[in-house]
Amino acid sequence: MAVIEVTNLHKRYGETVAVDDVSFSVTAGEIFGVLGPNGAGKTTTVECVAGLRVPDGGGVSVLGLDPRRDATRLRQLVGVQLQESQLPDRLRVTEALELYASFYRNPADPARLIDELGLGAKRNTPYEKLSGGQKQRLSIALALVGNPKIAILDELTTGLDPQARRDTWGLIERVRDSGVTVVLVTHFMEEAERLCDRLAVIDQGRVVALDSPAGLVSAVAPEQRIRFRPSAPVDDRLLTELPQVTAVTRSGTQVVVTGTGDVLHAVTSVLARNQIIAADLRLEQATLDDAFVELTGHRLND
Ligand code: ADP
Repeated sequence: MAVIEVTNLHKRYGETVAVDDVSFSVTAGEIFGVLGPNGAGKTTTVECVAGLRVPDGGGVSVLGLDPRRDATRLRQLVGVQLQESQLPDRLRVTEALELYASFYRNPADPARLIDELGLGAKRNTPYEKLSGGQKQRLSIALALVGNPKIAILDELTTGLDPQARRDTWGLIERVRDSGVTVVLVTHFMEEAERLCDRLAVIDQGRVVALDSPAGLVSAVAPEQRIRFRPSAPVDDRLLTELPQVTAVTRSGTQVVVTGTGDVLHAVTSVLARNQIIAADLRLEQATLDDAFVELTGHRLND
């Protein structure tokens, strides 16, 4: 079931075309990524979804509602965490959450959210004294305090150290697992690959691909390479006869098999049937990064 439908969205700022015909839909219960380089039009797109910007053309439907006409109703249903949200320096964590909770008819319990987001030790700390990771966790808590059906999170992990980034990823998965649909804007490939169920790759205001991370990779670079050292001599024909195998080469004592589809399973099965053990087995696949280059002609974060 689609909870967000974006059709032929257009938005320009003066001469700048920020969003140039973007369409996608987001399914209930997924983490949907909007991935692209800086300036691609990601924030503008999600701002139109959140009703914070008025598109020049195209349609947006969120939970069957129009973000502009039904803004008041949607505010109760959609939690938004925008880039670099700032709070007053002196506002304490609990105060911020209680303040935001008061905007909603059916808010979450601020004390419970504080615990869930690992801010228990910081509940009385003023905003200005929080670390970058703690500020991000607070901003996620603020996006969730209204008990939303959809959470829109923009560049959540920018500026975080690797550990804080990983912690945040775990948190977002728990949000999704609790039944909230998550729209995640990111320019981090690893984040998209690790977290998103499906994603729209956006470049220069256009959607260049729409799929799961694995689907995107296999669509542009279907070949996989398997390397191993066989415990006994292998007749190449054993492998080349497999429909999944496209080539078999040797590199010193290593056998290198290139193939598509379920080639790993096919190769390991035939080896096992012939009592050959594949030592030091490695599978090399293209990454989402490779897929992005293939799709756009440039690297993501150049
Ligand atoms: P992203 O989120 O992918 O970095 P944005 O949606 O923020 O992309 O920006 C898309 C394009 O629109 C960029 O060229 C940006 O400079 C421009 N832009 C964004 N916001 C404004 C604005 N308020 N006024 C003028 N230009 C803007």
